[in-house]
Amino acid sequence: KKNINILGTKFHHITRSEAAAFIVKCLQERKKASVFTPNPEIVMEAYHDSRLQAILNESELVVPDGIGVVIASKLLGQPLPERVAGFDLVQEVFNQIQNKEIKVYFLGAGQGVAELAKKKMEEKYTNLKIVGVHNGYFDKDEDIVASINALDPDFLLVGLGAPKQEYWIDKNKDRLNASVLMGVGGSFDGMSG
Ligand code: UDP
Repeated sequence: KKNINILGTKFHHITRSEAAAFIVKCLQERKKASVFTPNPEIVMEAYHDSRLQAILNESELVVPDGIGVVIASKLLGQPLPERVAGFDLVQEVFNQIQNKEIKVYFLGAGQGVAELAKKKMEEKYTNLKIVGVHNGYFDKDEDIVASINALDPDFLLVGLGAPKQEYWIDKNKDRLNASVLMGVGGSFDGMSG
């Protein structure tokens, strides 16, 4: 995969529909992948935080959520094809998996938000299988990981905000059975509205 380096964060040179196809392929083949969509703020944060930068650079898919990153890539003479907002990418994946045997889990946002987001998404994507939700304010990772694994989702959306979700996914990746783990920022708030 071709990468474009923006201040040390390596973005994949890929369109939104190619990114969606990659995620769907990983889900169908049960291939483990973490997906992040950094905006310029996170690129700056990663520039000063080598641990965060390593988490991003070791993940299987990194696409730019924010036109600022795309503009920076053009100024560097290595243009990224387009902005790929996490929210839109998730919608495209939902559209493609709604009639497949792929199970989804929502982790994050305030009390009741992920529940409402589930309801809205199930109305929009009729056959989408959202097997569980939990808000993003919890104490022990172990308990949450166990309750997620018990429901056996394939696609885990983690909306704890950046960079908290990046750290959380990195820390728990190996013990989560889901194949695709994606940081979705405040997307549940958007989906519930
Ligand atoms: N959030 C959470 N747990 C936390 C901190 C934040 O679930 O400990 C949620 C918060 O409720 C919101 C999202 O993370 O839904 C952060 O949204 P924001 O738009 O600020 O994040 P970004 O998309 O910029 O990463």
